[in-house]
Amino acid sequence: MRLPLKWARIGFVLIVACLGTMLLSFFAPTLRLLFLGFGLALVLACIGIYIRFHYLRCPHCGEAACPPRWDPGEKFHCPICGATFLFDDGKPKNSEQ
Ligand SMILES: [Zn+2]
Repeated sequence: MRLPLKWARIGFVLIVACLGTMLLSFFAPTLRLLFLGFGLALVLACIGIYIRFHYLRCPHCGEAACPPRWDPGEKFHCPICGATFLFDDGKPKNSEQ
């Protein structure tokens, strides 16, 4: 079974957006905007965590161990069981076959 690259990419974008929103919040001119930014970052983080636990589970052991990512070419192993993560539209480089 291959992991859906679409969700890995959406998760990656959410993490970048969450960190960007949090960083921008520090430069907010008012306290209200600061809390608004942090609230938005928290919502993005929650959606990212939901995607990780529902769509990016290891096909071998079932742990939510696959990090959100953009590039499927890089080889990456599950830290729990050691299985190679394969994405649905891309093969990992230097695969064993
Ligand atoms: Zn695993």
